Amino acid sequence: MTAERSLLVTGGSRGIGAAISRLAARHGWRVAVNYVRDESAARSVMSDIEQAGGEAFAVQGDVGNEADVLAMFDAVDKRFGHLDGLVNNAGVVDVASRVDGMSVERIERMMRVNVTGSILCAREAVKRMSTRHGGKGGAIVNLSSAAATLGSPGIYVDYAAAKGAIDVFTLGLAREVAAEGIRVNAVRPGIIDTEIHASGGDPDRVAKMRDMLPMKREGTADEVAQAVWWLLSDAASYTTGAVVDVTGGR
Ligand code: NAP
Repeated sequence: MTAERSLLVTGGSRGIGAAISRLAARHGWRVAVNYVRDESAARSVMSDIEQAGGEAFAVQGDVGNEADVLAMFDAVDKRFGHLDGLVNNAGVVDVASRVDGMSVERIERMMRVNVTGSILCAREAVKRMSTRHGGKGGAIVNLSSAAATLGSPGIYVDYAAAKGAIDVFTLGLAREVAAEGIRVNAVRPGIIDTEIHASGGDPDRVAKMRDMLPMKREGTADEVAQAVWWLLSDAASYTTGAVVDVTGGR
């Protein structure tokens, strides 16, 4: 039965999104692997999945651009015919800064990619999955962050605020579509070993934080993917509006 299921993972080409794409494919789901710039990373995830006997395709698009989002969902419709799951994983950070040093361009990008992008993709997923629109139901998982509970002072309060918005969006959308066959949940990762820290100008962030973490270690993308997978799967059939911390106790 699960062999027929189809999933779109935004930012599925690297880090946590790549781990989610590979894990869902191992469980028999067909996966659309979205990326924005790094086509070779997306192709590598796709070929890993295909070599393991799964089905995947790479789809380029900026989640913060409505035309790109519409084209991405069109591509999924053409390839898979239907959609059972969306993981709103694409996300960005920026270099460490106090709020009094932030440009409007930075703040707008933080909100556009992390918040508007997730809401736009959820909108398109709901149109396809909701029984109200003739769909068969499905599951949405949003990637939040421990930053939403910590505030990230002096580092990226804008990012933390964007992820706080994701927590509230998760709760609201979950209740909005609960009777339409769609479950909506979120995962809040802590410090996870991916390239996001380098993209925020601090490639040593994980090593610097390690001793301050309760478990004295960072998490892996695979450990986050396991929680996302559970929320996507039928094992979580009565879970909606939940935010699961995968922070190692942070
Ligand atoms: P990552 O390693 O930097 O990978 C980011 C992925 O998102 C890449 O596939 C990238 O594609 C894609 N992406 C970036 N901007 C995009 C856009 N505008 N449209 C479409 N795709 C876009 O990040 P990660 O660490 O795996 O993080 C994944 C999610 O977990 C994010 O939402 C992040 O905020 C959250 N998170 C991460 C951590 C952590 O410690 N790593 C902690 C808490 C929360 P390209 O390769 O093409 O650029």
